[in-house]
Amino acid sequence: MLEVRELTKTFESPGGAVQVLRGVTLELGDGEGVAVVGPGGSGKSTLLQILGTLDRPTSGTVKVGGVDPFALDDAGQAKFRNEQVGFVFQDHCLLPQLTVLENVMVPLMIGPEDTMGPQRARKLLEEAGLAGRLNEMPARLSAGEKQRAAVARAMVRGPKLLLCDEPTGSLDSAPANEVAELLEKLRQEYGVSLVLATHNQVIASKLSRRVLLTDGRL
Ligand code: ADP
Ligand code: MG
Repeated sequence: MLEVRELTKTFESPGGAVQVLRGVTLELGDGEGVAVVGPGGSGKSTLLQILGTLDRPTSGTVKVGGVDPFALDDAGQAKFRNEQVGFVFQDHCLLPQLTVLENVMVPLMIGPEDTMGPQRARKLLEEAGLAGRLNEMPARLSAGEKQRAAVARAMVRGPKLLLCDEPTGSLDSAPANEVAELLEKLRQEYGVSLVLATHNQVIASKLSRRVLLTDGRL
C-alpha cells in the first residue's frame, strides 16, 4: 500500500542546508499501522507532510497503492490528497461556524460527488461516539470530542492512508486514549493504513506493533 524508499529532505536556510530526513525506508500493508516516535525536531512532521504530498522530498520515492503521487500533475495531486489520504493534526482544525456534521462533510464538497458520503459521515460520527452531537457547534465539544470529530472528517472520503501528526498531543491521557482507540477501531474496520507521529510511546504502542523510532533525525 505504502512504499517509501530512501527518502531524504533538506531545507535550505540562511544558516546553511539542514538535512531533516536522512533516508527513510518504510513499507506498510493495507490496514497496517506504523508509529513514528521521536523528539521534537526529529523530522516526524516533515515525513508526514511528504507522504501526504504537502511537501516534496529532496530525493527518494514514495508510492501509494503503486502510484508515485509526485509524478502526478497538480490536479492529480489534489485528487490524491482529497480521495486517498486523510490528515489528522494536533489541532483539530474544525471550522467554528459549522456544526460537527457539517465539518465532517467538508471534504465531500471538494472533488466528485460522493452519494454515500453523507451516510458515511454520520456512521463515522457514531463510531466516534458523537451520534448525539451532530448538530452542535464545535465550541461546545470537549477537546477529545473535537479531535474524534477531526478523525471522522479525515475518514469521510474512505482514504487508503491516514496520516496522524501528534493527534493526541494536546489531550490529557483519558481523551488521548479514546482517540487512540477510535483510530485503532477504524484501522481494523476500514483497513486504512495508518502512519502516526507521536512522542507519546504509550499511544504508539497502543496503535501499532511497528514503531519507527529515532532519538535524533529520521
Ligand atoms: P518534528 O515533527 O519531529 O518535531 P519537524 O519535521 O517539524 O520535526 O522538523 C524537523 C526539522 O526541520 C526542525 O529542525 C525544523 O526546524 C526543520 N524544518 C521543518 N520545516 C522546515 C521548513 N519549511 N524550512 C526550514 N526548516 C524546516
Ligand atoms: Mg511535528
